[in-house]
Amino acid sequence: MTDIALKMPWLKKPWQVIQSRLSEGRLPHALLVTGECGVGKRAWADAVSSLLLCAKPLRKEAGTPVACGQCRQCQLISASSHPDVRVYAPEKSRMIKIEQVRQLSAFAVSSPQVASRKIAVIDRADQLNINSANALLKTLEEPVPDFVLILLQESGRPVLPTIRSRCQVLSIPVPSAEQAEQWLVGEVAELEEGKQPSPELMAKSLMLAGNAPRLALEYATGEFPALRDEAFDKFRQFMKGQVAVAEAAKAFKALGLEDMLWLFEGWASDLARLCAGGTANDHEAGEMLGFLASRNPAWRAHELLDQVRETRAAGVYNVNPELEASRLLIAWRELMPTKRRAS
Ligand SMILES: [Zn+2]
Repeated sequence: MTDIALKMPWLKKPWQVIQSRLSEGRLPHALLVTGECGVGKRAWADAVSSLLLCAKPLRKEAGTPVACGQCRQCQLISASSHPDVRVYAPEKSRMIKIEQVRQLSAFAVSSPQVASRKIAVIDRADQLNINSANALLKTLEEPVPDFVLILLQESGRPVLPTIRSRCQVLSIPVPSAEQAEQWLVGEVAELEEGKQPSPELMAKSLMLAGNAPRLALEYATGEFPALRDEAFDKFRQFMKGQVAVAEAAKAFKALGLEDMLWLFEGWASDLARLCAGGTANDHEAGEMLGFLASRNPAWRAHELLDQVRETRAAGVYNVNPELEASRLLIAWRELMPTKRRAS
């Protein structure tokens, strides 16, 4: 039996929507699921695929169905080799291409091979370019009875309204700090000894991931926290005029473009929050950002957020991460008060 809501309790609400719609025989043909990066959107989509394809779903006390975990369908899904489930994700270009959407459309109208229906997951729908999104409209406008489309969207990244309006929209909340920690501790316990991160690193990873548990797991078992610390040190030194922009930019380049933009975006969001009287999610950067927030109007924070978005959009066309880091760093330093010249 696989009940995702037991393992990841914050998924409960969007999960129950699917359980009851399935029981009532009113399954939507297209779902758009939004949530922060690393909150468990893909785990939710996998659980929904199992539930929708399981040959013998079990009924729980309240009559809500769960996948049995035993039948052939469930086995194929847990081995990620079910022929009636397809996942479409961005390839090298960081965008989902029109060819991928064409394959999806052909899959939608084909006959299921071993299950009673087919499921396609687009991970992520916010990375459909305009042509791919338009190509997807036809599939959305002409629903096929034995086909369910699941679109995953990262919070804050737009999906075309024409797509959105044709889907049932569900959102996955960020878990409470306690839920996130509990889940992370459970996952870490399953890792080999020697590969288990320290409690301090787990706490830091949860903080950096804003309690998005899957992202925190990735951080706790990867290089990100160490690279981020190095970049943050250089960032502080650069802001105080202690190192040159080129040196600081190198530390950011080491993170790779995605993670680098993620950091700058997080700090700019924290700055906007602080300008509005809130608190910073990144506690370690809080003091420096608080200093900047006390000396700059809120629009400066939004300007920095816009610059990150511009770089991310340009990132589709192979930008140079070191140059982009320099550009963003220089924009940040404009927020520092200029010293009065001695007369
Ligand atoms: Zn089953």
